[in-house]
Amino acid sequence: MDDLLKVNHLKTAFTIEGNEVVPVDDVTFSLKKGETIGIVGESGCGKSVTSFSLMRLLGKNGKIKSGEVIFEGEDIAKKSEKEMHELRGNKMSMIFQEPMTSLNPLFTIGNQMIEAIMLHLKMDKKAAREYAIKMLKEVGIPRAEEIIDDYPHTLSGGMRQRVMIAMALSCKPKLLIADEPTTALDVTIQAQILELIKRLRESYGMSVMLITHDLGVISEMADKVIVMYAGQVVEETDVFTLFDNPEHPYTEALMNSIPQIDDAEEDTLEGIPGVVPSLQKMVDGCRFHTRCSKATERCKKEVPELKKIKEGHLVRCFLVEDKIKKSGEANE
Ligand code: SF4
Repeated sequence: MDDLLKVNHLKTAFTIEGNEVVPVDDVTFSLKKGETIGIVGESGCGKSVTSFSLMRLLGKNGKIKSGEVIFEGEDIAKKSEKEMHELRGNKMSMIFQEPMTSLNPLFTIGNQMIEAIMLHLKMDKKAAREYAIKMLKEVGIPRAEEIIDDYPHTLSGGMRQRVMIAMALSCKPKLLIADEPTTALDVTIQAQILELIKRLRESYGMSVMLITHDLGVISEMADKVIVMYAGQVVEETDVFTLFDNPEHPYTEALMNSIPQIDDAEEDTLEGIPGVVPSLQKMVDGCRFHTRCSKATERCKKEVPELKKIKEGHLVRCFLVEDKIKKSGEANE
């Protein structure tokens, strides 16, 4: 499989009240055609800013400060706003936790879908309407011929999410970015939406970047996973290794915070003590040291790099580096 997307040392900054904050700092990963990557971490870890950086939707006070985002072999930082507009409508699409973020309450579903289809697929109004109805059926909307003339607020949360997916996929994007797409939905509807994304991913051959704090969703959907903490990638690996053999202390702590069915008592759950350090006042050394039960004096002063510990598995931690070094020496 070829790389559809390559993100190299991405650094994204915002200016807030005259001060610069860097919510994404040195993020590197790649995504192959047809692959699903999960980006996981707590709120404020930089997951969503990473996705908005890829779409170049950072508002007036945000910018890609350094690094590259290579999509289909071209750096998106070098594209004009017009080219980015084309790309966002055609080849990259995004769905959000709250469908009303992308659905306008003042227009019918048809108005919103048909306009985008006419613009991007160069269809006339009649053909675009027929195509929109076909897409609504594709995502499992019943009575699509009638619903197309309804306003978004008349639909349930699950149906609105399906409409947003139909809109996002109507131009058959190569990359779908799904930012917490099922967080606001109940468990049954969540399962249906995830199944739908999986089915459409296979039939359209698209790549998916799935942003979530929910490791259950990651295990269902992702081929590979990056774990982010305080704006940095701390671990990258395939989904099986992530669950069977996590290496970074933060990933381990996230795993321990998942409720287990066989937990005899609720108090066996472990939260992660402490809070993510403030972007305005980033800590020295390893960004996780204030919460890491394994931190040493070195962790408070020096910054660990993201290092390959084996093919396809990268970790940012001194402890893991030392462990790998020792096991290498023992095998010599
Ligand atoms: Fe913990 Fe140190 Fe590893 Fe950071 S570098 S995760 S503080 S052991």
